[in-house]
Order: sequence, then C-alpha cells, then structure tokens
Amino acid sequence: MEEQSERAVIRFTHCQKEIFCFSLPQQCPSCGEELRGSRLQEAPVCIPSPLTNAHKTSCCLLVTPAHDNEDRDFDGTSDLHTGISTTKGVVYNYTRGGVRKDQTGWERCISVPLVRPDMFHLLAQWDQYLDRFSEGPMWDPAWHRFDEDHHNCFSFCLGFINGVLAVEGRSPQSRDTFVQTFILPRMTRVCKYTTLYQHIQGHQYYVVDRQEDTQGDAPVKPVLFQ
Ligand SMILES: [Zn+2]
Repeated sequence: MEEQSERAVIRFTHCQKEIFCFSLPQQCPSCGEELRGSRLQEAPVCIPSPLTNAHKTSCCLLVTPAHDNEDRDFDGTSDLHTGISTTKGVVYNYTRGGVRKDQTGWERCISVPLVRPDMFHLLAQWDQYLDRFSEGPMWDPAWHRFDEDHHNCFSFCLGFINGVLAVEGRSPQSRDTFVQTFILPRMTRVCKYTTLYQHIQGHQYYVVDRQEDTQGDAPVKPVLFQ
C-alpha cells in the first residue's frame, strides 16, 4: 500500500484514445506509433490521487478503511471509520474504547473540508469545540456503550458537526443528506481511481475512447461552514 500512494497516474491522448499509465511509453499502446521524439498534441497530465493524508488537513471530516481491516483498502466493501481533524491534523475519532486523538494512522483518507479557510472566528475555536465535545458523557464508555449501528464513529462526527451548526445558528444536517452530499461523490471518485490504478498495475495501461467532456469530475460541493 505504501508504494501505491507513491506512483502517480499519468493521462495522455493519442489517436483519439485516452491512455492512462504510470510512465510515458515509447510507443502508443493503442496504435503502436512511436511517441519518442514526436510531440503529443496535448501535454500529459497527472491525475492526483483522491486520497489525502489526514494529518496534513485542518478541520476535515475523514473517512478511512477501518483499522482492523488487514489490507486497508477502499474496495467498496470494507468497513469504514470516520473522524474529524483539528486545525493541526490530529484526528478525533470515537471507538469502543472512547474518543481517540490520533496523530498517525490516517495517512490515506477521503477528506471532506468542513470550514472555509477565511472563517477565522470558527477556526479559532474549532479545536476547543472538538475537545469539549469529545469530553461529553455520550462518548465516555463508562456512561454510554458504543453501538455498531446506532452510536458509532459517524454519530460522533455528525453530532459534532451539528453542534457547531447550532452554535452558528443553523439547522442540523441529517445523516443521509450529509452522506449523499459530502461523502458519496468522493467515495465514487476513490473507487474509480482504485479500479484504474489496479488496472494499470496489472496491464500497464488503461485505454479508453476519448470523450470530449471527461475533464471535469463531479463538481466539488461547497464546504459546510462558510
Ligand atoms: Zn496512438
């Protein structure tokens, strides 16, 4: 997995095909034409990985494969674990043992930025809010039992987000709306990217017919707090 995060996917266009690979080949894998020395019509582009190192984020909701999952991969079936980052990239996450404050272990995540970077009043208080919230009896194993379905890591995240929304005088987000709006589009991107990546690993190239409008991924939704 470590290696996987280090190889960048490159996309270039040739003979009306889009070709994805890790390094530019000597010949076009589709038509066989020599690429060396000939200029491509368009510069090859790097496709950035949709996964983020959570410890370099600020005020994000994070989704990662659950820690007890051996291969720690997003294959769409593995259990997921969620948390919220402080302004300094410490990830608060609720588990059976209570709230953990992780400084490592969240290196490959889906991150959902929650706060617009110019919301200084909120940024200034974020870490304090998170501290205070996680000290509540709801998250203390002595008071409240963790429940896989009804009182889990995501209950913690959504509870915190709704607490902040309330302070800001705004109405709460439902679980479904939040997942639909902020998480699913990103999950879809990760799944697509993982499939593409694994295909290139196995076959060296991934070739598709060129489409006019493939540039734009789904538009990024606005952040919650702005
Ligand atoms: Zn070609």
